[in-house]
Amino acid sequence: MSTPPFLPFAGARIAVVGLGRAGLPAAYRLRDWGAEVACWDDRPEGRMQAETAGLAVANPAEGRFRWDMLLLSPGIPHLLPKAHPAAAAARAAGVPILCDVELLYLAVRAQGSRARFLGITGTNGKSTTTALLHHLLTAAGRVSEVGGNLGPAALGLNILGDEGIYTLEMSSYMLDRIATLRFDAAVMLNLSPDHLDRHGDMAGYAAAKARIFANQLPADLAVLGQDDAPTRALAGQIRARLVPVSGEHPQPGGIWAEGRHLRAAGGIIADLGAAPALPGIHNAQNAAAAAAVALDLGLSEADIAAGLASYPGLPHRQERVGERRGVLFVNDSKATNADSAARALASYDRVVWIAGGEAKEGGIAPLAPLFPRIAHALLIGRDAPVLAATLRAAGISHEVVGTLEAAVPAAARIAFGGAAPVVLLSPACASWDQFTGYDQRGDRFRALVGALGQEIA
Ligand code: ADP
Repeated sequence: MSTPPFLPFAGARIAVVGLGRAGLPAAYRLRDWGAEVACWDDRPEGRMQAETAGLAVANPAEGRFRWDMLLLSPGIPHLLPKAHPAAAAARAAGVPILCDVELLYLAVRAQGSRARFLGITGTNGKSTTTALLHHLLTAAGRVSEVGGNLGPAALGLNILGDEGIYTLEMSSYMLDRIATLRFDAAVMLNLSPDHLDRHGDMAGYAAAKARIFANQLPADLAVLGQDDAPTRALAGQIRARLVPVSGEHPQPGGIWAEGRHLRAAGGIIADLGAAPALPGIHNAQNAAAAAAVALDLGLSEADIAAGLASYPGLPHRQERVGERRGVLFVNDSKATNADSAARALASYDRVVWIAGGEAKEGGIAPLAPLFPRIAHALLIGRDAPVLAATLRAAGISHEVVGTLEAAVPAAARIAFGGAAPVVLLSPACASWDQFTGYDQRGDRFRALVGALGQEIA
């Protein structure tokens, strides 16, 4: 007997706006799941792709809004700084604006599956903690699918049965667009000002992030970072079982790192000294958070210790891309703001630093306490002069070199001369002025380091 078709959205009329990495797979999937789907993208290329794939293309902002829900790409604003016309039309019609993870959740529950949903958010460390938790789970033999903001889009994931686990990185943009999604375990790592154009102010940003806890029940798990005040302040909003975590401060009833030892009240869980892909206090916090969820899901301490040690790391996050003449080259291209660059700078005593691009509000001024670790800075990209002004005022040796192609050989020469044992690309800036994204910037750095042998005598 053949199984009946799975049509969780039969009869639903869904507008999908933004046909990028997540939008197109979502549109196919929703159509296969029985929905009437209309696709839209302001870019003609996006519309063309949808048409080629046989999807209906229509602008939901034109004419009467006849859709039951709007799946809006996280990159497209529904409110600030300016609502996209499709979002404005949906709001005027009183129709929910959702993200793809919400729709995955609805489909899984429609299937009758009790698969668990784990959500991870925070300003920094989301991808690392998500990938690490997925690694701990799969290394211990659990069935976990990883995705969301990291890796495959939510509607590209498989529908899992009761034993399955979805390990999902959640951005503030996605959390703004969940309705019923209830996380069995939710992790909030940290909060520092970011994306304020979209959320209005820090309070709006924190409120969007805190939605990760909004639908939780007392039996669920809430893991809360304790290393910054805005995150600690969220404790009052949490109904679920609260487990505090820290990369450096003891947490009664929680999990924390003491030096490189990951601890719980009962004693040492793991030695982070044996986890080469998790350097620094920030990664100790990520490890504590992942371990808190893993323990709650029944993994043994031995499984967790083994998984931390075998975690391979993600590209562009303090990725060790090479060693030449005793100098380590580290690709931390993902550090697009001062806060994340601070984590990398704090991980090494002395560095030749490559930074620059499109600076965030406040530039690199917040890094001042770490400036003494910089032997010399090589500055690239649009806002190199802005960064140079900050370093000049602090008396830190630096030069504006403009491009990564100029920066890498120059940094190597200076480091080989004995200035520092580490060359660190941790730009503290977005990359859009010179690259298609942080990943292209990091790939270029890796390639330039690879080519060093030929260039430097
Ligand atoms: P996200 O996905 O939130 O952007 P990543 O895991 O990709 O975070 O890490 C990006 C950068 O942020 C890292 O290279 C590191 O410099 C910094 N970082 C990672 N984890 C933390 C943390 N727990 N606290 C503060 N900064 C962190």
